Amino acid sequence: MSNPSEIVNSLRNSFYNGRTRSVEYRIKQLQSLYRMYTEKENELLNALYADLRKSKQESVTTEIDFLKNDIKNTLYNIYSWTKPQYVQKDFANLLDTPYVQNDPYGLALVIGSWNYPLQLLLLPVAGAIAAGNCVVIKPSEVSKSCAELLGKLIPKYLDQDCYRVFTGGVKETTELLKERFDYIFYTGNSNVGRIVHAAANNFLTPTTLELGGKSPCYIDNSAYLKYMARRILWGKTLNMGQTCVAPDYILCTKDMQEKFIDAYRATIKEFFGENPKESPDLARIVNDHHFHRLIELLKSGSTRVGGDYDIKERYIAPTILTEVDLNSKIMQEEIFGPILPIVNVDNVYEAINFINCREKPLALYIFSNNKKDTELILQNTSSGSVAVNDTVMQLVVDTLPFGGVGTSGMGNYHGKYSFDTFSHKKSVLYKDLGMLGEVLSSSRYPPYSEKKLAYLKFMLAKRPGINVGRSVTHILSFLTGIWALYVWQNYGFKIGNWM
Ligand code: NAD
Repeated sequence: MSNPSEIVNSLRNSFYNGRTRSVEYRIKQLQSLYRMYTEKENELLNALYADLRKSKQESVTTEIDFLKNDIKNTLYNIYSWTKPQYVQKDFANLLDTPYVQNDPYGLALVIGSWNYPLQLLLLPVAGAIAAGNCVVIKPSEVSKSCAELLGKLIPKYLDQDCYRVFTGGVKETTELLKERFDYIFYTGNSNVGRIVHAAANNFLTPTTLELGGKSPCYIDNSAYLKYMARRILWGKTLNMGQTCVAPDYILCTKDMQEKFIDAYRATIKEFFGENPKESPDLARIVNDHHFHRLIELLKSGSTRVGGDYDIKERYIAPTILTEVDLNSKIMQEEIFGPILPIVNVDNVYEAINFINCREKPLALYIFSNNKKDTELILQNTSSGSVAVNDTVMQLVVDTLPFGGVGTSGMGNYHGKYSFDTFSHKKSVLYKDLGMLGEVLSSSRYPPYSEKKLAYLKFMLAKRPGINVGRSVTHILSFLTGIWALYVWQNYGFKIGNWM
């Protein structure tokens, strides 16, 4: 069955039948997904190699083990994440139990991108499963081998009544987006992000958009050149630069530029040898469209490092460009390849101004040992994330939310944030119908009076938060109840009125 309406109706029925409500069921599905990563690791590695010529080390660390560790973390924590979260309360609610219940949204759609074809698709899928949703799983058609493999494997590991792979390109995705979902999670470029957002808008569907953009990298004279060059080159050539949080361009003084270029050149040799094309550790550009787009970008400035390419292999050497025209394409669009332009600024204030005059980046990198300047950038710019003295590694910390801001995205995930993203935070106020509670809250009822108003003002007044445990709350509640009864009695109300 590949008709979007049929898939959506069938999964929605499964959701309403309550199958995904049980935490034990979710655990079984996540364990099965984990098993898929283990049992089919070689097939998955081969598919990544076929699509992107990813090395084993990158495939394991940034895709397969990344996914496995995420599931492990979820399984360690799922009982605590799913249980109700009891919240602080005011005097007025001392006898009540207010809490947050994590409800699954229902039917989620997860649309993945080609650059990390497993991780970017299946990490949010695991979050959606943990939160109790049914899921339509849409791999990117650009990473064809991975899409085909997932279409074959997932039905063997996940319950088909609740989780379904939907393959296809723009035409099929356009049809799919006409359906009603309860949550949409999209990873990809900002233009398609707008299309997805508009489709979600038809049903007011909540959406997470994990988009891209230009991620600046500010470097200053205080940073240790050798380590800085290594960390920037690694982030820029990981997956051949096709990483959403890759450093897009460098901001530095002219003087620093020359030192950095020397260090970068030396590091290329250290990492990839005399001829980087021969290195098994450099992936390849995903397709001809992106390859030709990048070759055009090579013309945007003066080539100081690299610049060579091979059309047959879709290989482009790690490259540095200087004297780039700020109005040229390379400074207007996300590069998404191993080309690194350098833009000169005279000081940290100019760098901040340069960043703030452009769209909000997905990531921002600062290489500096100057705490004052670092803090100045942190406090005066907006970006999805920041790493100081490193690149890309901020997204490995799964206790940090990962996502963009402005045109680089909305919403976030990773670790518990994935679970939260796919959970509706339902507020529940649990009261009982006993007499004591009725006495405490009766002053809200008409006929209104000055006495009732004074009582209400006292009960509802905001006080500094006291985080008392639930048993202490119960004792306090009881005492308050006695006190309230006493006050009420003394104001002339008779207890019999509430009996
Ligand atoms: P892509 O071409 O794989 O597209 C992403 C998804 O959108 C695919 O599943 C595709 O089928 C679907 N799609 C494409 N055109 C569509 C249309 N017209 N209507 C509906 N659906 C459509 O990936 P891409 O967009 O080339 O991905 C690269 C971009 O994604 C870069 O900008 C990168 O920075 C960004 N990205 C962001 C993150 C993040 O986590 N923020 C991660 C990876 C990539």
